[in-house]
Amino acid sequence: MELCEFIDPDPAWVSQQIHGARIFSPNETPVTIHQQDAGYVIERKVFDRRLTELAADAGAEIMVKARVTGVTSSAENIVNGVTFRYSGREYTCKTKVVIAADGVESQVGRWAGIDTTHQLRDVAICAQYLISNIELIPEYLDFYVGHEKAPRGYLWVFPKGDDIANVGIGIRGSISGKGNKLAIDYLNEFVKRKFPEGKILGLVCGAVPVGYGLPQIVGDGILLIGDAAHHSDPCSGGGIPNAMFSGKYAAEAAIEGINKGDVSEKVLSSYADKWDREKGKNFKRICRIRDCVLKYSDEMYDEYAEVLSKVPGEEMTLSKIFQTLLRHQPSLLLELRHLILAGWV
Ligand SMILES: Cc1cc2nc3c(=O)[nH]c(=O)nc-3n(C[C@H](O)[C@H](O)[C@H](O)COP(=O)(O)OP(=O)(O)OC[C@H]3O[C@@H](n4cnc5c(N)ncnc54)[C@H](O)[C@@H]3O)c2cc1C
Repeated sequence: MELCEFIDPDPAWVSQQIHGARIFSPNETPVTIHQQDAGYVIERKVFDRRLTELAADAGAEIMVKARVTGVTSSAENIVNGVTFRYSGREYTCKTKVVIAADGVESQVGRWAGIDTTHQLRDVAICAQYLISNIELIPEYLDFYVGHEKAPRGYLWVFPKGDDIANVGIGIRGSISGKGNKLAIDYLNEFVKRKFPEGKILGLVCGAVPVGYGLPQIVGDGILLIGDAAHHSDPCSGGGIPNAMFSGKYAAEAAIEGINKGDVSEKVLSSYADKWDREKGKNFKRICRIRDCVLKYSDEMYDEYAEVLSKVPGEEMTLSKIFQTLLRHQPSLLLELRHLILAGWV
């Protein structure tokens, strides 16, 4: 599990251990994938606080409620500090290097001259309730797909215990609102139908990058990581492990630059190279596969789910899905060639 490369799982922030997933087609035919110890549903606030504690233990100076308001630059135009507002006063902090981790519409990157804007088609608009008093299988993540239920996206039910789950939706920004329904409208319809007895305990809304990743993630004296660098997975929208990887790679490049006494874009770009090599190169392939799958009609999803639902969950792998679907419909070979080219099957 990717997260475990950075931190040991702790009952304080693990809400639920996960051993597989069920994908429900539009007519709710389930395709089950069993994977022992697949991952965790986490309690985000506790998890984030634990990371903060670890950073503090490692020597970081934490300033809560401090808002960065700008960046400062040297005569050579190298970022060399940030201005911030804290307790009603403005301060300046000189830096050897700035790592901007300020989320999906990074202002810090923009202040340093990096274009961080998103195309609406490259973001998913998300809404998520925490709902109790519902029936679920706690060890499985559930996903619901279909153009009517969640156009260009999916609904999820992520268990956080025996009868409580995060129930959410992400749909593409280009089709949310402006005369179309909003993400929360689709979510409300789903919740009303699926969990009429559920008790809504919380709501989170937000945007998640689902494109190729930002073309420029490094400047003179500055690196962008996580959502600020558009590093969420283009298919699932999951961004927590990717943000941790990009943070690690950026820190390595920053240390290299500081040790050399040169934090120019040229030196720091070892971060961008490593990101591309380790993670980023897959984003384009994932986007291609996702866009290919999104072309299918709801009827096709139901037909393929019917075929795949016969495969036992323990045997389900990407390769097995591919082989099963090809046996059912050989003409799919052309469409799914990206998987072969990517070496995924
Ligand atoms: C509804 C929803 C559900 C999701 N579910 C999942 C999931 O199940 N799994 C998963 O992997 N990912 C999920 N994601 C995506 C995940 O939350 C993000 O990818 C992840 O949080 C990115 O981390 P980050 O540190 O880059 O940015 P963020 O978590 O957005 O953190 C950015 C931080 O910077 C702070 N900040 C911004 N501007 C400034 C400023 N000027 N000065 C000081 N601080 C500033 C913000 O307050 C914030 O605390 C979900 C997202 C949403 C919206």
